[in-house]
Amino acid sequence: MTKIIVVGAGIGGVPMAFELRDLLGGDAEIMAVSDSEWFQFVPSNPWVTLGWRKPEQVKVHLPEVFARKGIGFSAAGVRLVHAKENAVELRDGSRLSYDYLVIATGPALAFDEIEGLGPEHNSISVCHVDHAAAAAERWERFCADPGPMVIGAVQGASCFGPAYEFAMMVVTDLRKRKIRDRVPITFVTSEPYVGHLGLGGVGDTKGMLESAFRDRDVKWITSAKVDRVAPDSVTVTEVGEDGGAKRSQTLPAKLSMFIPAFRGSPCLKQDDGTWIASLTNPRGFVLVDRFQRNPTFPNVFAVGVCVAIPPVEATPVPVGVPKTGYMIESMVTAVAHNIRDLLAGREPTREPTWNAVCLADFGNDGIAFVAQPQIPPRNVNWSSQGYWVHAAKVAFEKYFLRKVRKGTSEPGYEHLVMKLMGIEKLRPEAKPRA
Ligand SMILES: Cc1cc2nc3c(=O)[nH]c(=O)nc-3n(C[C@H](O)[C@H](O)[C@H](O)COP(=O)(O)OP(=O)(O)OC[C@H]3O[C@@H](n4cnc5c(N)ncnc54)[C@H](O)[C@@H]3O)c2cc1C
Repeated sequence: MTKIIVVGAGIGGVPMAFELRDLLGGDAEIMAVSDSEWFQFVPSNPWVTLGWRKPEQVKVHLPEVFARKGIGFSAAGVRLVHAKENAVELRDGSRLSYDYLVIATGPALAFDEIEGLGPEHNSISVCHVDHAAAAAERWERFCADPGPMVIGAVQGASCFGPAYEFAMMVVTDLRKRKIRDRVPITFVTSEPYVGHLGLGGVGDTKGMLESAFRDRDVKWITSAKVDRVAPDSVTVTEVGEDGGAKRSQTLPAKLSMFIPAFRGSPCLKQDDGTWIASLTNPRGFVLVDRFQRNPTFPNVFAVGVCVAIPPVEATPVPVGVPKTGYMIESMVTAVAHNIRDLLAGREPTREPTWNAVCLADFGNDGIAFVAQPQIPPRNVNWSSQGYWVHAAKVAFEKYFLRKVRKGTSEPGYEHLVMKLMGIEKLRPEAKPRA
């Protein structure tokens, strides 16, 4: 029987395994390999950091879910993909062969690229639920004896939404505690302007996010590189249009949080330290064609943050393109259909839309945007602000976690609602001919 392995069980990998099972029925053996028994709903991590959620509220124990769906599961983690041999080597020394491989390993967090950055050093992180849980303790200590904060996203970062969300939520939380007046906040970002988001902005994200910062007395520095993070300060250099250093300054910071740059998973790096040739780009992100398939290893697909996408435009400080939830789900649906086509002896035809539907929560308010497709130029470029965004994000968290617990990827009613809103996962021209 055809063997399909999905590596990674996050926002991309879990729905990937479910959709393959639903689409292929008993025609294939599906195995998910992660490096943890737990699914974490990553978008909730800023809430965990501020104590608004307990880690266990945003996690799902996967072995029983996969068992119920008839999907094999290992939490041993993949040490190395052997693409030429159609096999993955697990960290426990065992080896699994595959006919098709879907890589969904998310990002490796490149804290090591900046001195003092990251939860093992001087800044907190919201990127992993364990980081967020550790940061929640720091947050309580900080609130008992507050001081200046620096929040942002470093050079080469590609995920800006959570940095903005965290800054806004921090203000909400501090105001509730009535200590906002004791916490000067500076937002430091590699983006060329506030609201760029690695996407050249979406609708009026520039105006809305600048205005939200003004309302909340948050200062900002753009086109900035973080040089060093110390226990009580952050040193940053602002870069001019020509890429040259304009001004360096050391900002006092009793607490700092930065989204780091991302790299590909170490399981795509060979023992000689080089990334697997033709499978990844120089940062270890998986190269894919319009069908989410690697051009050199046509039985290897990739979904999620691990996919290589070039920047939308040159910027004074490098910024990457975010891979957001709905965009990832569109990759998942395309891959499931393309593997089904291959099993039926047809070439893949399904292209994901890469549409983005994002909800950035501020704790008491928020910004939503729809970008169709996410990479400009776009057919739809819409953004809006209001309390409803906070409520919608809470509802979405509950809904997504319920889907993971129940083992469903996209119920029919979800498909219908999104379709009625004109938001689809597969490009129309790639739909099957009747
Ligand atoms: C803090 C934060 C908040 C975000 N909020 C939003 C949001 O509100 N809306 C939105 O649209 N997007 C958001 N994103 C962006 C994106 O949706 C998430 O990053 C999402 O988790 C990416 O899904 P993924 O499957 O690619 O990676 P992940 O969800 O990180 O999953 C990767 C999985 O691979 C596993 N893995 C890694 N290496 C190995 C290995 N060697 N072997 C086996 N398994 C491995 C990991 O354990 C994990 O289970 C956010 C991102 C961050 C960091």
